[in-house]
Amino acid sequence: MLPLQQQLTGMLVGVLTAVVLFSTANAQHGGWGYSSDNGPATWPNNYPNWCNGQKQSPIDVQSKSAVQKSFPALNFKGFDTPPADAQMRIKNNGHAIQVDLLSKTGKTDNYQISGGGLPGTYNVLQFHFHWGSEHTVNGKRYDAEMHVVTWNSKYPTASAASTVTPDGFAVLSVLLEATSQTANPGMQNIVSQLSNVANKGMNYTYPTSFSVNSLFPADKANYWRYMGSLTTPKCNEVVVWTIFKTSLKISQDQINALKTSCYFNSAGDQDQQQLNNNYRTTNPLNGRTVFDSSNTSGVPQLAPTVLALVIAVLSSTALQL
Ligand SMILES: [Zn+2]
Repeated sequence: MLPLQQQLTGMLVGVLTAVVLFSTANAQHGGWGYSSDNGPATWPNNYPNWCNGQKQSPIDVQSKSAVQKSFPALNFKGFDTPPADAQMRIKNNGHAIQVDLLSKTGKTDNYQISGGGLPGTYNVLQFHFHWGSEHTVNGKRYDAEMHVVTWNSKYPTASAASTVTPDGFAVLSVLLEATSQTANPGMQNIVSQLSNVANKGMNYTYPTSFSVNSLFPADKANYWRYMGSLTTPKCNEVVVWTIFKTSLKISQDQINALKTSCYFNSAGDQDQQQLNNNYRTTNPLNGRTVFDSSNTSGVPQLAPTVLALVIAVLSSTALQL
């Protein structure tokens, strides 16, 4: 070969090697997403430990198969009024819109959850949104879902907790439904800042923190509980899930804003893909139990058949008198 041909061949090999290495690195390190080439169907192969596991999330909650169980009340610390040194930062992480709950003084216990049958006291890290919802209920997919991610304070760090099966993390899930005629005030704290986080890597620090509780339904006593995983790679099977039965009602304008304001890509990327449909499809239960909290603020709930039986017994008793 002529020297020039050799040089060109060498360059071509170099470029091809770089492309292959980049593709491999992309698949192994944060290269997952929600498109056909890197989406949920590819995760079990690309992240066999854990995405290929038997206790994966999300699931379809079959309400009739859920087992009734009474749990003590859930306790929320810092959710109503933001702690004095709290700092909230919204960001586009390339997969979802997330709000980090930070502390100006480095505290990890500003926001906590406990009780509710949780195996410990959990520190809150962040909350983020998927649209549509990841969990479905009796096959129904909601417009969106909020995940509040927390880690068990009995472990030294969130990172350490993230590998501990089965109780390292607890995630609270709120299902969002675009059925309100008016904008939800809590959700407006998110929607109003979407233009500041349009692209991957962008973030915005709120000058004033808002109440996390403003993103929750009033009824936090009724929920489903099961043991599962993170819903994004590496899908660690370390999560105690709590899915509130009452959805948060937001407006159609608010869900439209989520669907159209942001991109999976960094600013300046050639092929901008709208950040939408960032949910994992549901996974088999594989024998797991979904519990149905039967907390009803002291009002006992009787299943219709039981109620009918009670009425029948009372009636027959009355007839005998
Ligand atoms: Zn999530």
